[in-house]
Amino acid sequence: MDAATITTPAVLILLGPPGAGKGTQARMLEEKFGLVQLSTGDLLREAVAAGTDAGKAAKAVMEAGDLVSDEIVIAILRDRMAQPDCAKGVILDGFPRTTVQAEALDNLLASNNQKINAAISLEVEDAEMVTRISGRYTCAGCGEGYHDQFKKPAEEGKCDKCGHTEFKRRADDNAETVASRLAAYHAQTAPLIAYYDGQGVLQRTNAMGRIEDIANDLEGIVGEVMN
Ligand SMILES: [Zn+2]
Repeated sequence: MDAATITTPAVLILLGPPGAGKGTQARMLEEKFGLVQLSTGDLLREAVAAGTDAGKAAKAVMEAGDLVSDEIVIAILRDRMAQPDCAKGVILDGFPRTTVQAEALDNLLASNNQKINAAISLEVEDAEMVTRISGRYTCAGCGEGYHDQFKKPAEEGKCDKCGHTEFKRRADDNAETVASRLAAYHAQTAPLIAYYDGQGVLQRTNAMGRIEDIANDLEGIVGEVMN
């Protein structure tokens, strides 16, 4: 099969740790700018299901219990970006994860006379993130969300919505796990941040404010680079 022609004018990368609201913000950008969010996991599943050449290659590798190579992921990405729904641009989520992958992506785009428009880093304060995430819990009856500091039930120990008196916490939302997730994120992302900073396409945005404010900032950044 011939290499598909990419017609995607805007290529954005969204970097942010778990819990920074990346998914919410990506959906906002999809709606506002007609972009399509491409996440590596979904792309692989789709390509395997569609039985494309790259999808078949990925399937064989995964069935053998191996990791899908960057080359295959790039081929899948190339095929996907050639689809008509990507005509306005894409937001990459989960790829690249390493500078080797970032270089492979640059090569793919360069073959189409393109570049990354922006790598947007959602910046968080770790201590604050730990407080936010580790304080979350939900009603065991109706699933209503609460927080130790920011949203307690009006009557202690009783759900505002359904009156249930039992609550649940996710085991992996404890402070230690959240802190180590953040540390792993920073370790993994630091080289990429440096890479895109070096290219002059890095944009940092404060992801600790209200969702609407973060969305406004992102809208400004994306609006600018898509012009
Ligand atoms: Zn409830």
